[in-house]
Amino acid sequence: MDRMRYLVDTLNKWAYEYYVQDAPSVSDREYDALYDELKELERETGVRLPDSPTRRVGGEPIKAFARHRHIAPLFSLDKAVTEDELSAFITRVHKLDPAAAFTVEYKFDGLTMCLTYEEGRFVRATTRGNGTEGEDVTAQALTVRSFPLAIPYRGTLEVRGEAIIRLSVLEAYNREHPDEPLKNARNAAAGAIRNLDPKITAMRRPEIIFYDINYMSADPVSSQQEAVEKLKAWGFQTFPFLRVCSSFDEVRAAVDEIEVGRKSLDVLTDGAVIKTDSEVIRREMGYTDKFPRWAIAYKFEAEEAEATIERVVWQVGRTGKLTPLAFITPVELAGATVRRATLNNYGDLTRKDVKVGSRVLVRRSNEVIPEILGAVSHAEGSVPVEKPLVCPACGSPVAEVGANLFCTNRACPPRTVQKLTHYCSKNAADVEGMSEATLTVLYEKRNVRNFSDLYALTGSSFEGLEGFREKKTENLLSAIDASRRMPLERFLYAIGIDGIGRVAARDLAAFGSVEAVAALTFDELVALENIGEITANSILRFFADEENRAELARLKAAGVCPASSARPTQGAFAGENVVLTGGLASMSRPEAQKKIEERGGTAQSSVTRKTTLVVAGSDAGSKLQKALALGIRVIGEEEFLAMLGEQ
Ligand SMILES: [Zn+2]
Repeated sequence: MDRMRYLVDTLNKWAYEYYVQDAPSVSDREYDALYDELKELERETGVRLPDSPTRRVGGEPIKAFARHRHIAPLFSLDKAVTEDELSAFITRVHKLDPAAAFTVEYKFDGLTMCLTYEEGRFVRATTRGNGTEGEDVTAQALTVRSFPLAIPYRGTLEVRGEAIIRLSVLEAYNREHPDEPLKNARNAAAGAIRNLDPKITAMRRPEIIFYDINYMSADPVSSQQEAVEKLKAWGFQTFPFLRVCSSFDEVRAAVDEIEVGRKSLDVLTDGAVIKTDSEVIRREMGYTDKFPRWAIAYKFEAEEAEATIERVVWQVGRTGKLTPLAFITPVELAGATVRRATLNNYGDLTRKDVKVGSRVLVRRSNEVIPEILGAVSHAEGSVPVEKPLVCPACGSPVAEVGANLFCTNRACPPRTVQKLTHYCSKNAADVEGMSEATLTVLYEKRNVRNFSDLYALTGSSFEGLEGFREKKTENLLSAIDASRRMPLERFLYAIGIDGIGRVAARDLAAFGSVEAVAALTFDELVALENIGEITANSILRFFADEENRAELARLKAAGVCPASSARPTQGAFAGENVVLTGGLASMSRPEAQKKIEERGGTAQSSVTRKTTLVVAGSDAGSKLQKALALGIRVIGEEEFLAMLGEQ
């Protein structure tokens, strides 16, 4: 028996070195010799230890997969596709805790799996399935060597990982099986695990990369970092990339790092996963009916290509920010020839180590101009880009704010044209046909400076301008007219308040009118879902500014009357500012918020002086404490349902 224990432990140690650490300390022959001895010993004695590597062969083909319910649901993640959505996520978390940290990890593209351990023994592997129930693939998973059969943790444990097939493994497999090649690594991984014959699973050589703990019956981990550390210590294969970030800029940088890094990976990935590190914040944020609110997947859906930087010029944006615009060697990207690409700001240039002559990775996404993700390599004689001291457009001095450079001249010509272009863009006033080129002509020849000037344009304004035939002028004028009735959320986005993207504009539009938004206080602003302190201050500054107020008045006089998305003022919650805290058994938080607003109330995300009612569900946290301290009325779920009339 001692010999058997010794053989199992030694073989497991060697397998760990080979499959997880990729650093074998013995030859295949030495391993095989001990393995054969163990098999013989097991045959003689009729005993097989629970963590014996001979269990790894996976057994006979099965008829069908048994269904299995997960102890804790395996949630899928909400997706962010735009930077605005990513930034809104960071804001939501930072409103709860400004010091909150985020982990950024690779998102692997394979088959999500859940492994269960009882009292330190591996007992079951299941697929994610629909999140609540998956398929029992224990026999198939046993052929994978990148996880331990025994761990020191006592109690019940569920860990989560992604079954993948390495691209090099797929290639080798297809070379050996030219008649039946596997199409792509993602389907190959799913097909290998969800194969009724474990021998076929073994032949296709899938691996599982572990990245999370789904359930622990005792001593749960307190953070994502701790979960990954534990997995590593217990002998699971993990991925050696995990960045801990504290700001949007850091998260963005880590996401870019992944986007460049994935190019040279032997594993298929399709994005980055951003989670709040702390379990405390996760509990506080909870779940929507579909997703955890404390994590998000940033999907890479765009196409990328490599190019060389020829020169860099500086562009002035609508906020006065100087953006580096690089001219690159022409490259085909998403069906177009790309010759220019941008970087976010001056800091980006240095951080991404982008120089003239550098080979860079360029991405084309939903932005008009492709973006430079980072430098891949440098040529001999690559030169750093010079930092501008004055605005290249108007010669005014440049101000440095963090990683950004700004032109200090509010009337800087390209800045004004960019402001107008933003106002006319599709997601804003949507003035079809009003391009940057057209606005540049109108700026230069017709003195168009403000949004309101657009509404003063007539047919004669275009007379004598090159390229404006009757039809085109007519179309432009009717598009301008139509924009008078744009939805309020688009108007709030169009006027270009610093920090207000489309997500935050939607939040504000719920107040029903520009006047109502202009009257909001700091506390009321930060109580909104997607608005943090910096943005709240920028909104207050915007509406306090004399020039902006005059322009808003001119727009109103010109008949610009954004359609209000006002909500009912009647109902059980009329006049109430309601905060939800803790979990409700009968509905998700967004559902509850919707119902409050349908009945005339305002749903706030945090308790302020203006809060009039707090609905406390199970595990209500700091918000409840604050409400009690402020003497705000608190009700439970039952009373809440009664107010909704749903009891
Ligand atoms: Zn300027």
